[in-house]
Amino acid sequence: MHCGLCLPTCPTYDATLLERNSPRGRISLMRAIADGRLESTPAFADEMYFCLGCLACMTACPAGVNYAQLFERARAEAEESGVLRAPKRNFIRWLTIRWLFMDLARLRCLGSLIRLYQRLGLQSLLRRSGVLKLLPQRLQQLEAMTPVIQPKFSAALIPPLTPPVGRKKYRVALLTGCAQDIMFSDINRDTAEVLARHGCEVVTPPRQHCCGSLHAHNGELGLARLLARRNINQFPPDQFDAIISNAGGCGSHLKHYADLLADDPVYREKAELWDAKLKDIHEWLVLIGLVPPGPGAPAQTVTYHEACHLSHGQKITAQPRQILRAIPGLTLIELPESSWCCGSAGIYNVIQPEMAGRLLDRKLQRILSTHAAVVATGNPGCLAHVATGIRRANLPLRLVHPITLLAEAYRHEVQEGTRERFLDALRRDSPAI
Ligand code: SF4
Repeated sequence: MHCGLCLPTCPTYDATLLERNSPRGRISLMRAIADGRLESTPAFADEMYFCLGCLACMTACPAGVNYAQLFERARAEAEESGVLRAPKRNFIRWLTIRWLFMDLARLRCLGSLIRLYQRLGLQSLLRRSGVLKLLPQRLQQLEAMTPVIQPKFSAALIPPLTPPVGRKKYRVALLTGCAQDIMFSDINRDTAEVLARHGCEVVTPPRQHCCGSLHAHNGELGLARLLARRNINQFPPDQFDAIISNAGGCGSHLKHYADLLADDPVYREKAELWDAKLKDIHEWLVLIGLVPPGPGAPAQTVTYHEACHLSHGQKITAQPRQILRAIPGLTLIELPESSWCCGSAGIYNVIQPEMAGRLLDRKLQRILSTHAAVVATGNPGCLAHVATGIRRANLPLRLVHPITLLAEAYRHEVQEGTRERFLDALRRDSPAI
């Protein structure tokens, strides 16, 4: 197929109008390498890393080309060929992909150090003093992206076993993630609460593993397989009704362990069951029957940004909107180009800051055009990246995960219920009121 229907949906092609920056152009390059007509070169590797991996081309493709798989294999090919090897790059990759994200205790340790730096006020002091302007441009950009670290990580907020509210209907596992755990542990807590409200007993072990999407998307398929096996060992899929992810990017990868472990005779069948049990939180709530919150939540206008790997990767587009619309007092305003990538794309904003910045500016313009006070999105990468843009431009916007809005609505409902019961009792005792 060379129809090119994917071209207008591709953010990199849209920016450059060059065929080689389009899905069709990239697939031609991949095919030339696979057929032995082209050697893996730095230009080929650069092209594979210029791609966001947003998967908008997969939604557009009428022939169902599995670009996600091609993209992962192509980056692995680029890494194996060694054409991008350089001491600084090798060291950064070793430090992050091979060391930090292979044991999340290390990541939590780094998160604690950043939290201390932020809580002691050193970050705001340095930012206000202007000292950071002395740093090279690249380091200034990276510093501006430093995420706000949560006061407590997931293990301190969620017990290993959360009982269901009322009758137990399901037993589910909750994946707390890697970056999600240190930047958005509050979203994990909200997810556990919402699941319990739906009759789920929630199993959340305090020590968990990275899903491996960072590794798979950066050409380290061997490490991605190792992490997949660790996750399957920790959460045997036959012991749960569902394994829940609340991070669109992670969920998209987690649902394809069977592809990743297709050649593993020990894990292949377990991985197939794992894929069947893996559910995004929005998908799961709608599947089991969303419990609409009662009245009490304040009025708010919300717009919804679709994380690429939730919409294009997992095809979950209706469920988050359904959840938002079920919240009393919430008016959902459709975001123009809702599923156009914001530029976060895993670590794309770190390795391709210029293109990521252009896409972020475009996303913020679209958000502002809605005049909504709140932006909801279901992926930690988007939350962190859009937060950087909101902070930089000092915009009066609240940025949240849809599940946080749902959890807040349930909390308001409880408060409202308590208030109503109090007033009822008062009316009973003092009929004059
Ligand atoms: S994944 Fe996104 S950036 Fe990459 S080719 Fe497809 S549409 Fe373009």
